Amino acid sequence: MTWTKETVDDLEKLNAAGLYASEIADALGNGITRNSVIGKLNRMGLRAAHKPVPRRPRQKRPPRPRLRIFPPILAPKPKPAEPTPVETALHCTIMELHSRSCRWPIEEIAPRQFLFCGNDTGETYCGYHSRIAYNFTAR
Ligand SMILES: [Zn+2]
Repeated sequence: MTWTKETVDDLEKLNAAGLYASEIADALGNGITRNSVIGKLNRMGLRAAHKPVPRRPRQKRPPRPRLRIFPPILAPKPKPAEPTPVETALHCTIMELHSRSCRWPIEEIAPRQFLFCGNDTGETYCGYHSRIAYNFTAR
């Protein structure tokens, strides 16, 4: 399809009459589509009449329920008991430790040679050093 002088004249007349682009395309025929009418009018610096798009009436939404945020009710955290210092560390060498001795290193007496707590315990550390080693409750 080509725009001849006659079709361009018809296009201008039909557009000036206020027809919509689809109606102009139907009137011109000859394979001219609505989009080609709009494109040609744009290139000519003219504007095609726009069909008003039927709009759906806006549905009003029901109001959102407001969230009320309350602070969580929590019992005050009990303060972890402060570990009491152990004055009774036995300061054992590694050779003096037995299977039930606390293995907490107390001091380094030589490079890589430590003295250990050595208090009797059923676990790895005595009560005092367990609280230091596994200090999870203090967080
Ligand atoms: Zn200990």
